[in-house]
Amino acid sequence: MRNVARLLDGYRKFHTESFAPNREVFETLARHGQHPRTMVIGCCDSRVEPSAVFGAGPGDLFILRNVANLVPPNEPLGDYHGTSAAVDFAVNGLGVSDIVVLGHAGCGGIKAYLDGMYDPDKGGGPFIQKWMSLLKAARGTVIANNPGQAPEALQRELEQAGVVSSLGNLMSFDFVAERVAAGTLTIHGAYFDIASGDLQAYDRHARRFESLAEA
Ligand SMILES: [Zn+2]
Repeated sequence: MRNVARLLDGYRKFHTESFAPNREVFETLARHGQHPRTMVIGCCDSRVEPSAVFGAGPGDLFILRNVANLVPPNEPLGDYHGTSAAVDFAVNGLGVSDIVVLGHAGCGGIKAYLDGMYDPDKGGGPFIQKWMSLLKAARGTVIANNPGQAPEALQRELEQAGVVSSLGNLMSFDFVAERVAAGTLTIHGAYFDIASGDLQAYDRHARRFESLAEA
């Protein structure tokens, strides 16, 4: 009950401090609909809030959050493709000009997958096992390429490889690839370090993440 009371307190604070002074903004958004220019695909992790990281307000970002900020490849219809549906709507419905895949340090899902917790014989929940197996190839590559690395370093490698893998999977959707080729859509990889607040951007030519704080 105490937790719900906190949520209610938070709502009242939002209504007084954020909604009331910006009532016109909300009214305009309600009347004219949303027209965000950017989709962000982030992790469910409570510490990585895309609107906070990008200083965004209502109507600015079309945000999808899932475990480990993963994008699956384009697969045949038949299952419930929540992430693919959000990408579909962002691109074909809203016509966003940019998609940002936002990875982060200390990702619990990626750490567990790296540790082998989601192997079929070790459990971890039937849905998350299947979901994290999207990183099966990346996990194998990271482990093979970094013999003797400390677990924290391996985890960072896989967190960043996961972002790159998701960028590749985004391009497997025809409607994404066509717009990228036409220059009407750009896809970006980013990586947020929770402890330092540092945001890094993926440089696809250098094939590495570079801090935006230093730029
Ligand atoms: Zn995460």
